[in-house]
Amino acid sequence: MFQPQEVLRKKRCGQELTPDEVREFVLGTATGDVTEAQIGAFTTSVCINGMTADETEALSLAMRDSGSVIDWAAAGLDPRRVVEKHSSGGVGDEKTTVLVVPVVPAAGVTIPNLTERGLDYLAGEIDLLEALPGYVARPDTSTLLEILRSTGGAIVAPTSDLAPADGAIFKIRSTTATVESIALITGSILSKKLAVNPAGIVTSVGSGSGAFMQSRDDARELALMMSRVASGAGVPNVQLLADFDSVLGTCVGSGIEMLEVASFLTGGPRDPRVLDLVLSMSAEIILLAGLAHDLDDARALASEQLDSGKAADKLQEIVAAQGGPRKFMEDPARHISQAPVRRALLPREPGYVESMRAIEVGFALVQLGGGRARPEDPIDYSVGFSDFAQLGQQVGEDRPLCVIHAADEDRWARAADRVLDAIAVSDRPTAPAGPVVVERIAGDARADGGWR
Ligand code: URA
Repeated sequence: MFQPQEVLRKKRCGQELTPDEVREFVLGTATGDVTEAQIGAFTTSVCINGMTADETEALSLAMRDSGSVIDWAAAGLDPRRVVEKHSSGGVGDEKTTVLVVPVVPAAGVTIPNLTERGLDYLAGEIDLLEALPGYVARPDTSTLLEILRSTGGAIVAPTSDLAPADGAIFKIRSTTATVESIALITGSILSKKLAVNPAGIVTSVGSGSGAFMQSRDDARELALMMSRVASGAGVPNVQLLADFDSVLGTCVGSGIEMLEVASFLTGGPRDPRVLDLVLSMSAEIILLAGLAHDLDDARALASEQLDSGKAADKLQEIVAAQGGPRKFMEDPARHISQAPVRRALLPREPGYVESMRAIEVGFALVQLGGGRARPEDPIDYSVGFSDFAQLGQQVGEDRPLCVIHAADEDRWARAADRVLDAIAVSDRPTAPAGPVVVERIAGDARADGGWR
């Protein structure tokens, strides 16, 4: 008989698990035969002892197989046009998905984005969309297929049918400091991506102070592992290594980022690094879907969807199809609750933003109530930061570091201290952030895995 504690003992002692052991344990997380305490023990041992490439592959495939895998032809959709995207995470980066998802169906791609709520100190795409009243993040699979047939895009979370093991393991990792593991991140991301059976997968893999992988080398290792698992499963893939060493864009926090998204799509200011990441990801997706000759063509097509307003219309369609407000894009602020205290934070001394420990901004968001301390905690969608200054920007009386949105004065003050400690301001001009995309790793669909 399967004994989860035998698997746990083996992993705790640093031994390699067989694919069958990994599979039985993972399937047990979805059925409830493995308890939450045992999941926590497993993720802790994996974080400490790591997993081999074979174990990581077995983990990803078992997590995928904890639910069903979508059959696109049976659903009446062209399998060649279905491409998935994901991000390994960065402070402020969740908005990227909410921007890419409407751009690519406007260009003909089907994108069933299977993603999650926030993890540890990062908000998640699902949190952003759940800031909208009525949004249904976990539709059953037949409703999801209906939404995709009518709009081409969706942003949904794992259900009892799609990658349920990720749902079970994810929420435990989020609050047990067991996120930063190449094996667990690969399993979590690839199980969701492979469950939707795409023709291609595009992932941004972040490094820097706002990402789970702090060093570029670790991010590259994660990207190569994801490429190996995706290729081994027969799915062409592209990993874009991204620099998340500072806050991405100008807003952090679920409702506030949704306002940034709406403004971005409807002619408001576009942070250049967000724009570059959105176009780079969208171009890779469009190319993998076979809808452009090369990356330049694909990027131009993506740009056209943004500039023509088609992406804005598409986001509105997707939001409404998933139960959100029917006129969200017309007056976004009307649909998103506002925090009672909203005040600018000035730097201690005027000068130029030199560096940021972006992770501290993420923890400040959790402290404000915009992230979770326990898996089932509700979050406050109205809190966070807007107007965030970027590296190299001059700050002082006329240009605050950011505006803090808080539930009360006490929380505003605690967030302010944390952000002030996290941002270094120099009295001399400093360099702006470099390019957001720093490297590209592409993997083919070889049955034995591998990348080029
Ligand atoms: N996104 C996920 O879905 N899972 C992770 O572990 C990290 C980012």
